[in-house]
Amino acid sequence: ARLAIRRALISVSDKTGLLDLGRALSTHGAEILSTGGSARALRDAGIAVTEIADHTGFPEILDGRVKTLVPKVHGGILGRRDLPTHQAQMAEHGIAPIDLVAVNLYPFEATVASGAPFADCVENIDIGGPALIRAAAKNHDDVTILTDPAQYDALIAALPDGGTTLADRRAYAAAAYARTAAYDAAIAAWFAGQSGDTFPQRLTLSGVRQSRLRYGENPHQQAAFYTTSETRPGVATARQAQGKSLSYNNLNDTDAAFEAVAEFGRPAVVIVKHANPCGVAEAETISAAWDAALACDPVSAFGGIVALNRTLNGETAEKIAGIFTEVIVAPDADEAALAALARKKNLRLLLTGSVPDPSVPGLTVRSLAGGFLAQTRDNGRIRREDLRVVTRRAPTDAELDDLLFAFRVAKHVKSNAVIYARGGATVGIGAGQMSRVDSARIAARKSEDAARTLGTGPALTIGSVAASDAFFPFADGLESVVAAGAVAVIQPGGSIRDQDVIDAADRAGIAMVFTGMRHFRH
Ligand code: 5GP
Repeated sequence: ARLAIRRALISVSDKTGLLDLGRALSTHGAEILSTGGSARALRDAGIAVTEIADHTGFPEILDGRVKTLVPKVHGGILGRRDLPTHQAQMAEHGIAPIDLVAVNLYPFEATVASGAPFADCVENIDIGGPALIRAAAKNHDDVTILTDPAQYDALIAALPDGGTTLADRRAYAAAAYARTAAYDAAIAAWFAGQSGDTFPQRLTLSGVRQSRLRYGENPHQQAAFYTTSETRPGVATARQAQGKSLSYNNLNDTDAAFEAVAEFGRPAVVIVKHANPCGVAEAETISAAWDAALACDPVSAFGGIVALNRTLNGETAEKIAGIFTEVIVAPDADEAALAALARKKNLRLLLTGSVPDPSVPGLTVRSLAGGFLAQTRDNGRIRREDLRVVTRRAPTDAELDDLLFAFRVAKHVKSNAVIYARGGATVGIGAGQMSRVDSARIAARKSEDAARTLGTGPALTIGSVAASDAFFPFADGLESVVAAGAVAVIQPGGSIRDQDVIDAADRAGIAMVFTGMRHFRH
């Protein structure tokens, strides 16, 4: 049965849509009770309104900290209409039923985001608002609770039909508790941050559903995409300029690709398949970077996700569209690029506005049975001055550039990761093997395959540099890299057999540097 609204309580910080809501309620015969600022706005617009203080006979006190926290308000919301005892008590105490509550909360999140001082943030913790919301949602059998101006239109449309249905009120109640939960989560996270504790005793993850996905990692799994309040440029904040909707795997791979391409200062391209890069390059132009990234493994690039750290131009868009590509993500795209891709209706194009800063701190989470793991983001970045040369031969300047490039790529390749690179481009990527020697061999073999496919002669690993995401536990991994033709190696170091590995490098006459930092990625 629909529920007519005879009395409504409106108390909103965000006054968006307030007058439309007030006018519609008033037109349909509802008495409107309202708190200070909200009442003033309604009255100024000529909408009949009763100040909450006049209704309760108790003034708003303590600078607004206590406005609605009185039995006449909460009794009017919580009293059950189906229980004679409740009805009798309400009558005895002169409590009038309240059928609709429209509340949005003090802007705590926005106040924190603005960098306001501690005391201002505390003052923006709403107390009465969440109490109203939780009370109204609890009594959804008889009370409608609105917590977001985006809900007003549907409510206004329901008024001529006789009010809300029980199904409506349950949906509003669910949204209401999600809102107060997220609000308290934001307060808890902020407080924890004040004490400098990244990992508080309780951690509440809060997200807003951005979309339901067709399915999860596999078609028999269900999935949805949630966004958080983090504003990092990337897949969650991007604008989709064209193409089919993104799948679970698309989103995951696009994130991996864009985070990787953000590592590079020069124009760069990363091609990702199954969350691993299969080609990475930086060059003078984005178009040249695409050519070089594709050359690393043109077979795997089919059906890939392509990330750029510069505006996509027409020339590069034509080339990328020339092979089957699932997603392109870039900070922006020019007119020529948009025109070139428009023909490929299914190809998804995501525009992020900018590129994330890889050194910014943050948290990552991963679920496991019965819990989740949280850790700070891998924002470690090795620079030239961090490197320690451990071999008799020191790397040349050109080799150093490639070593740093390869190690940055390794950070974004699943462990065990071994990467061969030359001239600012990967020429072989070995990912996700349980043995480091296997990763080294697979990368070399893929490089040979690519050379054969492209007809470019011997494998490009010959004369390349190699990066390993973690130390070589034995000399065999290093020897395998040397056998593939690498002339310089970058790795964290730190194995108890480091000396064996250094000796093997010296015997081979190659250069090797230690970073002192590992980049496992699982
Ligand atoms: P107004 O602008 O109408 O004066 O205030 C609206 C805000 O007051 C809303 O965000 C609402 O959540 C909040 N509010 C309502 N009642 C109380 C109360 O008793 N205590 C506090 N701290 N906030 C309240």
